[in-house]
Amino acid sequence: MKSFTHLDTFSINDAYKALGEYEGKARLNAGGSDLLAILKGDVLNDYPETIINIKTIPGLDYIREDGDYLRIGALARLSDIVRSPLLNEKYRLLAEAAHTIASPQIRNVATLGGNICQDTRCWYYRYPRKIGGPIQCLRKGRGACLAVRGDNRYHAIMGGKKCFAVCPSDMAVALAALDGRLKIAGPKGERSVAVAEFFHPLGKDLARDEIVREIEIPARRVPSQQTFLKFTLRKPIDFAIVSVASVVTIEQGVCTDARIILGAVAPFPVRAKVAEELLIGKPISEEIAIASAEEALTGSKPLSKNSYKIQIAKTLVKQAVFSSMEAGEMLHPFQNF
Ligand SMILES: Cc1cc2nc3c(=O)[nH]c(=O)nc-3n(C[C@H](O)[C@H](O)[C@H](O)COP(=O)(O)OP(=O)(O)OC[C@H]3O[C@@H](n4cnc5c(N)ncnc54)[C@H](O)[C@@H]3O)c2cc1C
Ligand code: SF4
Repeated sequence: MKSFTHLDTFSINDAYKALGEYEGKARLNAGGSDLLAILKGDVLNDYPETIINIKTIPGLDYIREDGDYLRIGALARLSDIVRSPLLNEKYRLLAEAAHTIASPQIRNVATLGGNICQDTRCWYYRYPRKIGGPIQCLRKGRGACLAVRGDNRYHAIMGGKKCFAVCPSDMAVALAALDGRLKIAGPKGERSVAVAEFFHPLGKDLARDEIVREIEIPARRVPSQQTFLKFTLRKPIDFAIVSVASVVTIEQGVCTDARIILGAVAPFPVRAKVAEELLIGKPISEEIAIASAEEALTGSKPLSKNSYKIQIAKTLVKQAVFSSMEAGEMLHPFQNF
């Protein structure tokens, strides 16, 4: 690992000011579970001169309901999310998604902000220097996308334009299903971005001197069934081949609202709108669940080696809708928000 300067910061302002002063030669470090691996592999073209530690910012790890919103500070750890009584009672999709990520040791250091901002897992992009890398590609600013003609079995089956790497963040998928928004702070003030819109074809909607401060989610008022399902190759510690987050509201046997978000199929979390529309206004039955799953992948365009993801995604959507149906029959008004 190359050497770098290490700077502790104690406020959000300190952090984005430091980012501005180093003019792109510094990187934020929260838990370090992704950043340090990238630095050890020496996969980036621009190795940072300075690491700005934000874990020293006090009070940025809150999880609280505040009037009409649930607010989670960017430094809340994934293990805090797994254990939070509030989330397990009313926003259990978040706790379930966090529980599927990595290992207890990693969840004890990894933060929500870092999970959303983690770098792509594309194996061409991550190819380490010590075994012949780094490999250049379009996302790194040099050359073309190697996945288009190469081994693209884990890449996007929809929404890929220039880069076909999928969004690796499971938390982004769950947050998108709950209409989460990122509060982003920087020298020009604070702005808010919907989680799904944060991910761009070649990166993220985050300037070099900005920091994710908070994740804001509309408070749940009506009980709904929340489900997070993830298909992986290995049982323990693996990224999603496909994931699905769903939030389905069933009132008097009829589906009144539905959000179905697909993960690891595109460079961003994908809202399966046609599948949602098929559910709304109807009692959920086996036929409706199957029809909804069939429509969920509308518009997909798999690459040469990843069409297998389509059937997996359809199966997960069907399972998620089934589990909503079963739970909806038993829903207690103060459980399962
Ligand atoms: C073995 C292993 C398995 C994993 N499995 C999964 C999985 O199944 N699903 C999944 O979703 N993830 C998985 N991950 C990724 C893991 O969740 C992330 O590494 C972790 O969440 C990153 O959080 P961190 O606080 O350690 O971020 P860091 O490593 O500190 O930062 C990651 C990136 O985000 C930037 N950053 C951090 N915080 C902010 C902020 N507040 N504002 C702006 N930029 C910021 C940093 O500059 C850096 O570029 C896995 C990781 C490992 C090592
Ligand atoms: S998918 Fe993206 S990160 Fe991977 S090789 Fe193509 S451009 Fe690079």
